[in-house]
Amino acid sequence: MVGLALGIALAKGGLEVVVADPVPQAEALAAAFDGRVSALAFASVRMFRRLGIWERLEKQAQPIDDILVTDAKLGGAPSPFSLHFDHRELGAPLGYIAENRHIRQALFAACAELPNLTVVAPAAVTSLDVDANGVNATLGSGQTIRARLAVAADGRQSQLREAMGIGMVSWSYPQWGIVATVHHALAHNGVAYEHFLPSGPFAILPLTGNRSSLVWTERQDIAPGMMKLAKPDFDAEIARRFGAHLGEVHSEELRWSYPLRFHLARSYVKPRFALAGDAAHGIHPIAGQGLNLGLKDAARAGRRGAGGRLARPRSWRSRRSHALRALAAVRFLHLGHGDGRAEPAVLQRRSRRCAWRATSAWGSSTVSGRYGASSCARPAAMWGSCRT
Ligand SMILES: Cc1cc2nc3c(=O)[nH]c(=O)nc-3n(C[C@H](O)[C@H](O)[C@H](O)COP(=O)(O)OP(=O)(O)OC[C@H]3O[C@@H](n4cnc5c(N)ncnc54)[C@H](O)[C@@H]3O)c2cc1C
Repeated sequence: MVGLALGIALAKGGLEVVVADPVPQAEALAAAFDGRVSALAFASVRMFRRLGIWERLEKQAQPIDDILVTDAKLGGAPSPFSLHFDHRELGAPLGYIAENRHIRQALFAACAELPNLTVVAPAAVTSLDVDANGVNATLGSGQTIRARLAVAADGRQSQLREAMGIGMVSWSYPQWGIVATVHHALAHNGVAYEHFLPSGPFAILPLTGNRSSLVWTERQDIAPGMMKLAKPDFDAEIARRFGAHLGEVHSEELRWSYPLRFHLARSYVKPRFALAGDAAHGIHPIAGQGLNLGLKDAARAGRRGAGGRLARPRSWRSRRSHALRALAAVRFLHLGHGDGRAEPAVLQRRSRRCAWRATSAWGSSTVSGRYGASSCARPAAMWGSCRT
């Protein structure tokens, strides 16, 4: 997704662009390919509007009007305290939820209208040969493409990052993200829920209609068993975590799981080469920021590309500190949930410091008891409420 968005941004800036991907378009758009949805932040939607992508996606995107964060014991009642983000304080949705296949569809449609952008698929980039003036990319078919710059947006297992000898800082969380779409009897009214359960966060993300997408974080020793459950048992496990507020809940047939990892490339650039999206950074989906970060890489590169400064390393380096800030905010949420075991202590300390700055951009929030609410403008209150 990031590679296509970047291609569109650069082509709109007047550059000649080729995007190569080993997955044929039809396969990338099939329902079974990727069941995930993405919570698109305000900045991502603004970028999509500018690039002519949003008009193709808007109808299938569900506005997020409220976000409710609670914690609970498995099968028990949620804590009487919740954190409430309310769109009425902004006068606009807090973001949008869109299915990844719809995002891809909108990206492909926008690409098709740009004469200076060519999508070559299926075609993997198998090698890159850099010289002083440019780079030759060889595709699986043997075809070679000559360019001033190659950007690898080939995902978290990026073979091009490895081929270019760029190392990574990485670790695994002892968790999987289980993803499923559910249908429920009652309307969700645009509310997204984040239940902090003992195994990790259980997110209920509103989709168009009476549907929601689940991102169910589960311990890695339990998750494989959950994935194998027959549908009635799987639905019963969902119901234990979901609560009764949306009536009866049924999952769709397909489900997906993702072992959760963090990684950050040690460098985003080499001469005539740069990384973007998950090839450069991958974070826990707890805050729904991975794609948003990648789109920011694309937006930044698009601005630079228009000025002909794209191949300069400084254009990319500042993106790394953005990824670090996002990581820190994510760590902050994890630590708030008492799950800070997997990383070094120094990072945990830094997380608290950086996350204060990162989350202060979110503005005010409301900490609610079951029967009342009081506004607070400091993220420390959020921390407090999650711990209650
Ligand atoms: C459970 C879960 C929920 C998430 N929820 C959210 C969310 O709500 N909001 C959010 O912002 N993020 C979310 N994320 C993160 C988000 O999904 C990723 O950050 C995003 O998909 C990364 O996009 P990408 O284009 O960088 O990589 P990918 O989507 O992995 O795409 C990589 C592309 O590169 C291609 N490729 C591979 N090898 C080659 C090669 N050799 N040559 C050419 N092309 C190649 C692949 O075919 C693929 O098309 C979530 C992640 C998970 C696991």
